[in-house]
Amino acid sequence: MHGFTDETKALGEDILRYAAERLALDPVPLDSSATKADLDAVAGGAITAKGRGGRPALQLFEEHLALACLSTDHPRYLSFIPCAPTREAAMFDLVVGASSIYAGSWLEGAGAVYAENQALRWIADLVGLPDEAGGSFVQGGTIGNLSALVTARAAAREHAAEGVRPYRIAATVGSHSSIATACRVMDAEQVPVPMNDRMQMTGANLRKVLEDNGPETFFAVVATAGSTNFGVIDDLDSIADVCEEFGIWFHVDGAYGGAGLAAPSVRDKYTGVERCDSFIVDPHKWLFAPFDCCALLYREPALARVAHTQHASYLDVLNDAPDWNPTDYSVGLTRRARGLPFWFSLVANGTDAYTTAIEQTLEITRFAEAEVGRRDYLEVVRDADLSVLVFRRLDWSTQDYHAWSDGLLERQEGFVVPTSHEGETLARFAIVNPRTTREDITAILDSMA
Ligand SMILES: *Cc1c(COP(=O)(O)O)cnc(C)c1O
Repeated sequence: MHGFTDETKALGEDILRYAAERLALDPVPLDSSATKADLDAVAGGAITAKGRGGRPALQLFEEHLALACLSTDHPRYLSFIPCAPTREAAMFDLVVGASSIYAGSWLEGAGAVYAENQALRWIADLVGLPDEAGGSFVQGGTIGNLSALVTARAAAREHAAEGVRPYRIAATVGSHSSIATACRVMDAEQVPVPMNDRMQMTGANLRKVLEDNGPETFFAVVATAGSTNFGVIDDLDSIADVCEEFGIWFHVDGAYGGAGLAAPSVRDKYTGVERCDSFIVDPHKWLFAPFDCCALLYREPALARVAHTQHASYLDVLNDAPDWNPTDYSVGLTRRARGLPFWFSLVANGTDAYTTAIEQTLEITRFAEAEVGRRDYLEVVRDADLSVLVFRRLDWSTQDYHAWSDGLLERQEGFVVPTSHEGETLARFAIVNPRTTREDITAILDSMA
């Protein structure tokens, strides 16, 4: 099965045709979920001892499995955080798959690592990090946050006074669930910082939490630059002041919102981000790269190497060289060159196109906010900092929200699941797809009348 025959060639053409057709669809079909029983009926027993052949396998995917997967790039997919890759990035993902590149080490993947580092540098410049900053592309924000926090703890314990082992993280309840997950994995404790009336962490609130609990027990402060549920950016500059004063690691989680750094209309909301010790942004969210791709950056990458480099005799040849090995900056060893599709699209389209596309989604969000404000049956819950909008349908129960959401998907008119805040069910749009139009927004809002 490792040979290349006429049959393999024909299959390759079929697969490329399928991929090309999917990429050319406009709009893509929204599609829907399915039950296991549904899928058993059409695809149960697909794997056999003798094999079915490539074409039947592709057909199975094309005719059944693909239809049971929602298209996260549909312009009316506004749930969670959608993923709307550029055509260039999505296409280049095929090339990465075809190229068998090991991107964990410079020795094996120099060209890919070099390119990934260029893309990381663009992000580091947006953040305002110094020339020495660096990191790698990891699977997602969850692994990015965990890796940064593992580094923060190692650095803090290195410098802690005799007998002191910092074990706490300060973050608001608006911080992402992956921070709590990191704490569980690390056996660390998350101490909640109360939010102000704008749902932000501020330096003043952080200072009180540190002083009340003993600043020496903390190894990191996690600020969020674009909370997932509301798009709130914490007051980064005043947080940086407090971190600096107490000598605590300042991590900024920009998994969703970090992309806004490329948008002049919101850039000033991030003041202070340049003072962070580590930073993440997911290009698979608002930077138009395919899954799965998180950019993880450190101000001082050497601290991450201490925390993450794996030592084994078969790896000595890599570790003994003075090379930049991406695997040294995160949890995990083997890695796909997952930053390459993003790099390719940046090179092909230029960074101005990114600014334009991000501004476009911000513009549609402002339009949505105004449309909600104009309708007497709707109410904005908190004005949008970025491209997430949370709003209330007056007089609706939780069931009403769910019935409306289910109906939208059944009619293939949109995928907009409800969220909740302080026990109340609410509607939420996450707009990261530049193909989402004003008409898409008004159609969905009309459906709530
Ligand atoms: C999405 C998100 C994460 C987690 O990222 P994954 O790529 O889903 O692992 C972390 N933090 C924030 C703020 C997010 O929006």
